[in-house]
Amino acid sequence: MEKILIHACCAHCLGKTLAGLKSEPVAYTPVVFWNNPNIHPLIEYRRRLKAVKMLVERAKLPLIADETYGLVEFCRAVHGHEAAPERCARCYALRLGRAAQAARAAGCRRFTSTLATSRHQDHALIRAAGEAAGAAAGVEFLYRDWREAVADEHLVAMLYHQQYCGCVFSEHDRFKDTSTHLWPVP
Ligand code: SF4
Repeated sequence: MEKILIHACCAHCLGKTLAGLKSEPVAYTPVVFWNNPNIHPLIEYRRRLKAVKMLVERAKLPLIADETYGLVEFCRAVHGHEAAPERCARCYALRLGRAAQAARAAGCRRFTSTLATSRHQDHALIRAAGEAAGAAAGVEFLYRDWREAVADEHLVAMLYHQQYCGCVFSEHDRFKDTSTHLWPVP
């Protein structure tokens, strides 16, 4: 079986990615990789990491995790490019660049990302960033459109499901038009 490294940024998308990989002609042994300096604030970061750890334990998969909270690093990477899609292109490059290097270090010839399961992401940019990162590290980025993949419900049952992409910009975009108040208005 061929090892493949999966860059994972949330449990539910990891479940979809594992389902997508099962439909591939190659039988893969997944190695899960966590490195997501784009997820803010800290408590949200911890919730998503915890959910990924729980799924990995359920699926009995190996996990390589860089648990550094990378807020400053992310801000530096997108500084001057805060509007999407430029911000997202830099975000993908940052994370997939790390994933490609980790794949090489782990002895995986290929790597992929849970980003490819999302209906909210820019798939052309993901593919371009993944292929560039793979070429730089000497590994191959496996791009598939897994937006319709369905996770095994036993793997993802009761796991935390986030409500926005990850960065503070996406949190603002998600909630800016809501009228929810933290405290009752007098
Ligand atoms: S919206 Fe998502 S992909 Fe885009 S910069 Fe923020 S965390 Fe990264």
